[in-house]
Amino acid sequence: MKIIVQKFGGTSVASDEARIAVKDKVQQAVRKGYSPVVVVSAMGRKGAPYATDTLIDTLKSVNLSVNVREMDMLMCCGEIISACVMAATLQKYGINAMALTGGQAGIITDSQFGAARIKNINVSNLMHLLESGIIPVVCGFQGVTENNFKFTTLGRGGSDTSAAALGAALKADFVEIYTDVEGIMTADPRLVKEANILQQISYAEVCQMAYNGAKVIHPRAVEIAMSSNIPMYVKSTFSDAPGTLITSESNGRRNGSEIAINESCVSGVAHLSDLAQFRIELNPADFAAGRNLFEDLADAGISVGSLNLSEKEAMFAVFSPDVEHTCKVLEETGFKYTCNTECAKVSVVGSAMRGVPGVMANFVSALASKNISILQTMDSDTTISAIIKEEHLVDAVTALHQAFKL
Ligand code: ADP
Ligand code: MG
Repeated sequence: MKIIVQKFGGTSVASDEARIAVKDKVQQAVRKGYSPVVVVSAMGRKGAPYATDTLIDTLKSVNLSVNVREMDMLMCCGEIISACVMAATLQKYGINAMALTGGQAGIITDSQFGAARIKNINVSNLMHLLESGIIPVVCGFQGVTENNFKFTTLGRGGSDTSAAALGAALKADFVEIYTDVEGIMTADPRLVKEANILQQISYAEVCQMAYNGAKVIHPRAVEIAMSSNIPMYVKSTFSDAPGTLITSESNGRRNGSEIAINESCVSGVAHLSDLAQFRIELNPADFAAGRNLFEDLADAGISVGSLNLSEKEAMFAVFSPDVEHTCKVLEETGFKYTCNTECAKVSVVGSAMRGVPGVMANFVSALASKNISILQTMDSDTTISAIIKEEHLVDAVTALHQAFKL
């Protein structure tokens, strides 16, 4: 049996028309001799009646500090509705399909509500269905706890993770992530109209793009696929374009034409918005104060990123909703600080940039050419990032996209 996993995101299951396009993708896979396992997200985006955000708002309107257990249980309903509607659509077209909750599909998680980790997947139920010629339609984004079958969710974008984990557990030939764009692009097409589709990219680069804000795929899903060495494709539900292949290698191909690796050592530009940058004064005589500071923030459950620590100063960024809490912790601990709100982070990603001289110079001059001030930079072997003001975000992403000839 040649098993594949086909995951369909919110917009791919949002309307009758979209669900028929999904049906076509499932049928095509069956015609090619595959046994597909379908994974679905909740139907539609913010504002749609059964979308995850709508369900969250429903409970928050009753009680702002609603218990995480109840929140997860309600959020799981979005995918349950979606899986039932999708299974019914497939059945209407004569396809033998059955909707399954995450738990019914054997997905066992820890009990960290809202951000649960998959512990293991018992595939016996799924294998039995596949062997009987029935296509399982599995609720993405959810699982159950091992002992008491409480509903858990895997965090936003978690249906990608469900698909990759199912692919690994079922030893699938490959995993397909269907969405509303034709693949992984050189930048978010909502910001850069000229963004191009990448034919192939490495797991490591996609992970870096996803960590740095490219929300086309969840980084955890890529990590799982990478550790099981399962190829992933990102494709559009609404076209027959070949999409992007994610494997262990990036072949530097774009739009069908091979390009020399040194022509562009960067694969894409990613961005994160809605950040605030904190600068904290440290006493040079007490370098350890920096360490205490991060302990205090960690104890308060605040996740900090874009960290810079020097003798006199610490700099980091938090997401805007954490600003108030961060200020409170800093005031309680007596650190002198300034907070720069309405910031964003832009990053260029590419494993080929390792050791190539001039990449930083190109990065800085691209932003300088648009008079964009850099508040802070961070870099690794495969990324260069800058914190900038949010108002410059579109200009910055566009300038970097041009400067690196993407
Ligand atoms: P789904 O609901 O199908 O999971 P998402 O909204 O999570 O879809 O992901 C698809 C969106 O990701 C696209 O509409 C696009 O705006 C955004 N995106 C951000 N960065 C990229 C990128 N580099 N390539 C493609 N899409 C991107
Ligand atoms: Mg998604």
